Amino acid sequence: MEFGLSQEQERVKGIAKELALDFAKRAAQHDAERSLPLENFAQMRDAGFYGLVVPKELGGLGLGMLGWVAAAEEIAQGDAATALAFNMHINGTGGICQRPEIPDDKKQRAATTALEGHLMCTMVSEPTSSSLLPSTYNPTVEAEKVPGGYRLYGRKWFASNFEGSDYAYLYVHPKGNANPAQAMAVLIPTRQDGITVTDIWDTLGMRATRSNQVDFTGALVSDDFVLYETESFVGSFLIEESSFSFGGYTSCYMGLGLGMINWATKYLGERTAKGYAQPMGYHPDISHRIGILATEIDAARYMVYKAAWHQDHYGPSLATFEQFLRAKLAVGNALQSLASGLAVACGLHSLFKGQPLERMIRDAATAPIMPPSADACASMIGLLAMGLDPGQAPSIRMA
Ligand SMILES: Cc1cc2nc3c(=O)[nH]c(=O)nc-3n(C[C@H](O)[C@H](O)[C@H](O)COP(=O)(O)OP(=O)(O)OC[C@H]3O[C@@H](n4cnc5c(N)ncnc54)[C@H](O)[C@@H]3O)c2cc1C
Repeated sequence: MEFGLSQEQERVKGIAKELALDFAKRAAQHDAERSLPLENFAQMRDAGFYGLVVPKELGGLGLGMLGWVAAAEEIAQGDAATALAFNMHINGTGGICQRPEIPDDKKQRAATTALEGHLMCTMVSEPTSSSLLPSTYNPTVEAEKVPGGYRLYGRKWFASNFEGSDYAYLYVHPKGNANPAQAMAVLIPTRQDGITVTDIWDTLGMRATRSNQVDFTGALVSDDFVLYETESFVGSFLIEESSFSFGGYTSCYMGLGLGMINWATKYLGERTAKGYAQPMGYHPDISHRIGILATEIDAARYMVYKAAWHQDHYGPSLATFEQFLRAKLAVGNALQSLASGLAVACGLHSLFKGQPLERMIRDAATAPIMPPSADACASMIGLLAMGLDPGQAPSIRMA
């Protein structure tokens, strides 16, 4: 297994690192104001990032999952909310381009839309979705057939960067179909009648993703952008899109973890206490704690790279899905350790508003929550490790 990046992946990682230095300057303001970092997205567009995971044959950079991991870990160190919001574009473009069921002409149309500078978000969640109960992700937003396309009715939640996006990639249920797992994937222009956004995203962390409520009251999706239909939404989504979906945001959280440890090690490596010449980092309690935390995020980082390598070499499969489950769990656990451990190591001085660590700790609180939540990851990994089928696991009784 070789995680060495190609020249092109290294180039993009370098650009991401430079952009992150600039994004970091405004991260506190976007967090405080709960504002979308639109100027950051524009800089990423100008750098060609909208086509980062679009395959070369469709006109993109074709840098694969490893390319996004390498870029995301840099961007997230500057501003994790920018990385996570932009990840929904990567989720959409990556997911669409690798879907075997989507015909080539529709893939090309979606890819061209992104390459022309249109930003996408991805909406799966609805108000009642819980990653402990996968079937709650079956879409209930309904699509009603009309001449030339479908009109949508219903509500999505947690729609990161919907307001900053030109198109949304989402799943809907064909009206009148008796199978609750029946779903259609569509790409819909966000700026049209029949769409209302309600600002509910006043959260502890990741405040600048503006993952708001979106109501559809007759918005139109044209037949050209109805991408495919499946009879079994959850199974299909988990296998075919887990890499670009939760693999993508796992990479952002991994970068956030690197940002936390890098900030803390600089701080503790330089700060001296009254009467002492040496920095606080020489205190054995601090060096011991930092040693453990630095190792934990490093281990999680390699698991993310390993999962991305698996995706790029073997494509989507149950084995790839399991790799991302493990990486997601490891990153979520590492961020929880970093959040609590670094708060103690760096102390109250680092917890004032406006300090990067204070914001990063709040952002990190959402890492084990993003689906599959840490609990959902652990139980699925356990079942797969025992050779058991997660689809057969007992669950709480449905209504
Ligand atoms: C920063 C961030 C950005 C996100 N962006 C997107 C996005 O762009 N697109 C997208 O599709 N999704 C997005 N999500 C949403 C995410 O994908 C999940 O759907 C969402 O986190 C699930 O809700 P939960 O965490 O409350 O549920 P769970 O994973 O179940 O969380 C655990 C607990 O929440 C409670 N809970 C869950 N559901 C219910 C319910 N119906 N009633 C009562 N209690 C409940 C229960 O106590 C449950 O045990 C984002 C999430 C985060 C944190």
